[in-house]
Amino acid sequence: MHYISTRGSAPYLRFEEAMLTGLARDGGLYVPQDVPQMTMSDIKALSSLNYEEIAFRVMRPFIGDTFGDEVFFDIITAAYKSFDHASRAPLVELENNHFLLELFHGPTLAFKDFAMQLIGQMFQVALKRRGERVTIVSATSGDTGSAAIEAFGGLEAVDVFILYPHGRVSEVQRRQMTTPAHKNVHALALHGHFDDCQARLKDMFNDFEFRDGVHLAGVNSINWARILAQVVYYFSSAVSLGAPDRSISFTVPTGNFGDIFAGYIAKRMGLPIEDLVIATNQNDILHRSLSSGEYRMNKVLPSYSPSMDIQISSNFERALFDAYDRDGEAVAQLMEALKTNGGFSMSQDSLDKLREHFSSGAVSEAGTLACIRETKQKTNEILCPHSAIGVHVAENMRNKNVPMITLGTAHPAKFPDAIEKACDLRPALPERLSDLFEREERISRVSNDLQEIKSLVKDRIAL
Ligand SMILES: *Cc1c(COP(=O)(O)O)cnc(C)c1O
Repeated sequence: MHYISTRGSAPYLRFEEAMLTGLARDGGLYVPQDVPQMTMSDIKALSSLNYEEIAFRVMRPFIGDTFGDEVFFDIITAAYKSFDHASRAPLVELENNHFLLELFHGPTLAFKDFAMQLIGQMFQVALKRRGERVTIVSATSGDTGSAAIEAFGGLEAVDVFILYPHGRVSEVQRRQMTTPAHKNVHALALHGHFDDCQARLKDMFNDFEFRDGVHLAGVNSINWARILAQVVYYFSSAVSLGAPDRSISFTVPTGNFGDIFAGYIAKRMGLPIEDLVIATNQNDILHRSLSSGEYRMNKVLPSYSPSMDIQISSNFERALFDAYDRDGEAVAQLMEALKTNGGFSMSQDSLDKLREHFSSGAVSEAGTLACIRETKQKTNEILCPHSAIGVHVAENMRNKNVPMITLGTAHPAKFPDAIEKACDLRPALPERLSDLFEREERISRVSNDLQEIKSLVKDRIAL
């Protein structure tokens, strides 16, 4: 099993190297050369298994010889043992044939824990064996940062730096990043938007001297291992509703296209998915692109769903790669146009291919609050603003005869101000975070300046 870059000119890597690297050296993203297939009977067999066992069977064909079976199963078990819910990713029925997949029972209350807890364990085993140390730098719109800090904090062979947009994450999100006391984790408040954080991160990866000097590793959703971990819950939820004997649809609140791309991989593996619906907030570049064929950046507008306040959707490059029949040169040209002209037009053929798999919708700020309020009234479920965007789009688009699963991406208590605006109550934090507001914060401010960030990283890892 080899991994190839979406821009066609980086070396092929095994799973282990692709995981430890993150971004390819030609600026592209790694994808599997071939997508492993699961037969109807392979998928059927999952329905009697628990989450960890399903995770093992779904991910095993992708990891090659990186981990032996026993070690890999131990890694999975360790990754999910801190989850608060026995089934890890429970389904709740909101309306007839419309289900919410609750992905927020992990340590930092967002779906990011599913992938981050797993790669924390995988990094630890792989680095120990190699006798190496890495520096992880990550950009976050709010939830990746705390998930990474929780997964890597205190591990021996890693230092972790998190770039988050100053003043643009919720207070709960900020405190989750700034209060952990581990010496190897550093939360950096950058003056700018999430897209600036992501751009500086990419700059660091493209500066090979720095990259090699500090052994840079990336754990954003550009890292293939993160996508892989997220493929699992598409299988676990679909089989619990009767797949593969019937088709299931999914709606995914998305910004960086990571979570929904995992659904696309599940479909490519053989899971019968009828429709994959992209749900965006007012930062609707994905919805506009699919509607018009023009991928063009706008200004980022802060919203109630900050984890989706994104204009450059990194993982969309992976979908484009397939839509352009895996022509890396064509993808490299589109990405160059994005950088120099702020956008590009997709060919009619590639657009048709994307529309075969994906449909889309966008939700306004008022629509988000209304959906939180109405869902609370009808079902008593309190949705986080991101999940509400998914539920709203799903209700508009779904075929009532096909079960629809909307991904519930975060716990509502991470976004108490939005919930209060919508339905006049502040959801309580779960037990394990109940003293979050009494914990002491450590914050470092940085400007949107590559040199400044690089020196800070070098100084801190030298300590
Ligand atoms: C990260 C995040 C998203 C967006 O996920 P992508 O994989 O970037 O599309 C949606 N909701 C929440 C709560 C998130 O943390």
